[in-house]
Amino acid sequence: MLTIAESYKLMSSLNAPVSASEPRAAPVSAASLPLNATISAASVLGHPAAPNPIIDDQAIVRLNAEYRTLAFEERLRRLYRDFPADKILLTSSFAATSAYFLHIVSRIRPEQRVHFIDTGYHFEETLKYRDHLVERLGLQVSDVRAEDWQHQFTVEEQTWKRDPDFCCSVNKVEPLETIKGQYQVWVSSLMRWQSEHRARLDIFEIRRGIIKFNPMIDVSREERDRYIAEHDIPFHPLVAQGYSSIGCKHCTVAGEGRSGRWLGKPKTECGLHL
Ligand code: SF4
Repeated sequence: MLTIAESYKLMSSLNAPVSASEPRAAPVSAASLPLNATISAASVLGHPAAPNPIIDDQAIVRLNAEYRTLAFEERLRRLYRDFPADKILLTSSFAATSAYFLHIVSRIRPEQRVHFIDTGYHFEETLKYRDHLVERLGLQVSDVRAEDWQHQFTVEEQTWKRDPDFCCSVNKVEPLETIKGQYQVWVSSLMRWQSEHRARLDIFEIRRGIIKFNPMIDVSREERDRYIAEHDIPFHPLVAQGYSSIGCKHCTVAGEGRSGRWLGKPKTECGLHL
């Protein structure tokens, strides 16, 4: 019997172009997409990696020193002065923390495209919350997702049960990898109090060929909650049901911190931020 990885490899070969001369879909620039567009892996395969002029350790040390004294909002404003806006990638999971992050982004740069990784396994509440924040904040959102056959493979094999790392790789990590090459900086909303791994992160880091920018890394949970309450923005509806961290429906239950994610498994991160 084939392992999941072996079966997937076989499926990959069946879905690969028939010949080397077979054309691939034309690359898409995220900046040219209409509102709420969908980016599939096929639409961006082959897009050349953007040259990253400052991707070295010394530059990262300098950036961290310069941004450390700034507050979250000031850091974000400064980013748009230090980097070309069309080289800034921003992702959101539209989960518990997202309203604070997206409210600030929408005020500083309303035209910033927000990439939502649609695993196909989100709670219905997450998709509704996403739609609500899109309308309320005027966001421009693009869905990023695996090819249909890739996602379908994980449905049929129920890979979240047998090999969640593989499942996250297919539905989250690989789809984002296909667009990362167009950008120099990736903005996330990670905060240190969320997990042991995140507790060790700095404002700027180099991860797998892109500069990661974590402007909220030292924001406390209380600050986040206060901001959301003061601005009368709704929390994700599952927060009221005891969910502190919200991912896919197969791998999330109610719980404090990230304790409800991949319950009973050693996994604590989906792999996007590792
Ligand atoms: S969080 Fe669970 S369902 Fe979602 S991609 Fe990862 S393993 Fe699959």
